Amino acid sequence: MTRRELEVTDRDAIRSILDKCKILHLGLVDQGMPYVLAMNYGYELNDDRLTLYLHSSVKGYKLDVIRNNGLCCFEMECDVIPFSGDLPCQFGTAYSSLIGRGTIEIIENPEEKTKMMSLFMKTQTGQDFSFTERLVSVVTVLRITVDEYTAKCRPLPETKKTTGSAPNP
Ligand SMILES: Cc1cc2nc3c(=O)[nH]c(=O)nc-3n(C[C@H](O)[C@H](O)[C@H](O)COP(=O)(O)OP(=O)(O)OC[C@H]3O[C@@H](n4cnc5c(N)ncnc54)[C@H](O)[C@@H]3O)c2cc1C
Repeated sequence: MTRRELEVTDRDAIRSILDKCKILHLGLVDQGMPYVLAMNYGYELNDDRLTLYLHSSVKGYKLDVIRNNGLCCFEMECDVIPFSGDLPCQFGTAYSSLIGRGTIEIIENPEEKTKMMSLFMKTQTGQDFSFTERLVSVVTVLRITVDEYTAKCRPLPETKKTTGSAPNP
């Protein structure tokens, strides 16, 4: 990370980013060509081990890609606040974000799928939902085992909060 001072390493702050983002951008590779799409997610963070859970319909291009190549990356962001200034270089965007890489796989085991869908709904809604195996039989559930990730926070510049001018990005 070039601006190391903006890196977020505190686990509670990372958890807060994971709680807020709700949507990630999933990067896949189809025979050397990148494919990026938005998806909602659920997560588990145990110590530093991050696992993400996604759901989708049972057919589609992304599933074909994933079956051929499970390598993936993802990006998510929250607290996005654009700010402005008098000069072009004084415009910018405050944000918190997380980027990672890992392996994505389709989960077939019905019992595992029900647990993952509960985690998915917990992240998305903050509420506890339980699923039957019948309910999850009509969706595809995906798991991303995250190998590495970093989090970053670019806060709103202090000057923006008070005087309306901003430092360079
Ligand atoms: C905010 C947000 C949240 C979403 N959450 C989920 C989720 O949780 N689960 C989920 O399965 N999907 C979600 N989607 C939809 C997702 O991004 C894909 O559109 C969808 O999953 C179909 O992807 P596919 O690869 O199966 O494409 P297919 O339906 O097989 O379509 C093939 C082609 O259609 C085009 N295409 C597909 N989707 C889009 C699109 N969204 N915009 C423009 N072109 C497109 C692409 O060229 C793609 O190669 C979300 C989308 C948004 C914007």
